[in-house]
Amino acid sequence: MSMSAEERRWINKARSLPCVLCGALGVDQQTPTTVHHIREGQGMAQRSSHWLIAALCADCHQGAMGFHGDRTLLRVAKVEELDLLAMTIERIEKDGKS
Ligand SMILES: [Zn+2]
Ligand SMILES: [Zn+2]
Repeated sequence: MSMSAEERRWINKARSLPCVLCGALGVDQQTPTTVHHIREGQGMAQRSSHWLIAALCADCHQGAMGFHGDRTLLRVAKVEELDLLAMTIERIEKDGKS
């Protein structure tokens, strides 16, 4: 998927944030923040947008209990994929004002 300069800037902002799921869980982040694309891996018909991303640490993203694992961390935090997106957008907006 091609990426515009604006999209790259947006992704870099998300990558600079603390993990929103660790934040929701109230735990200290142990691994670097990565970017999860909403609807990632759901096939060509539902291509994920570079604008629809969530800031997740490597554990919360790719770890055994993370988003692409068994999603235990999401259940414990009582959040779903779109909640992670909303928390990421909110955090980017707040950072822009600080
Ligand atoms: Zn995390
Ligand atoms: Zn992902």
